[in-house]
Amino acid sequence: MSQAPAAEPKIIVVFGAHPDDVEIGMAGTIARLAQAGNDVYVCVATVPDNREQRMAEAREAGRIMGVKDILFMPLKSLDLGYNRKSIGTIDGIVHDLAPHSIFTHWIEDSHQDHVNLTRCVIAATRKNHFNVYMYEQTIPGGITPAAFRAQYLIDITGFIDKKMDSVRAHASQIGRNGDWWIEGIRGRAMYRGYQMRARYAEAFEIIKISGDTDLFSGEHEQSIARLSEADSEFAILE
Ligand SMILES: [Zn+2]
Repeated sequence: MSQAPAAEPKIIVVFGAHPDDVEIGMAGTIARLAQAGNDVYVCVATVPDNREQRMAEAREAGRIMGVKDILFMPLKSLDLGYNRKSIGTIDGIVHDLAPHSIFTHWIEDSHQDHVNLTRCVIAATRKNHFNVYMYEQTIPGGITPAAFRAQYLIDITGFIDKKMDSVRAHASQIGRNGDWWIEGIRGRAMYRGYQMRARYAEAFEIIKISGDTDLFSGEHEQSIARLSEADSEFAILE
């Protein structure tokens, strides 16, 4: 039985204002996207402190999630505003990578860097034909007047260990936020999972959908490949 031809990998770009933001928000989804054969790029807008250590932690987390690459944008924390410099930097990344889908912070997040980054991403994606999603508010985060609308839930049951390991890779932040920070992140994934009758899930709001929304088509191909292998083993036994 011939193996189905592999589809072109889809390019997915995930923006986070700081190292560890994307892991808290959607590491399970990133790991699942990567395993499905997509090329996932994580773009970290700014590294606020302990630059070398935090970049090393982010790279280790990226390795755990299986990302294609981590891009550290050349922005200082003070530069990360809703301004031409930030938007121009994101414009360049979007132009170079031509992604299928983009993920960014929730625009009502309580941290100004998170909000500014998403406003810049929206400006940079205004003329393009791809999907743009927002992951849930970063933990720890404050109360804001808005309520997150979980419009798109992704089952990460098989990827919760990678999610938690990728968060723990940010060892400098565990000391700052406490062990219970880790359990809060897992607890939210359980809460979102329960809403879709899965053990664990991550939730997203949709900014726009411009075309193909199938982010996990590679999973189908992998299962066909596994079936093919099973067939040939069976044939040998016969
Ligand atoms: Zn952050």
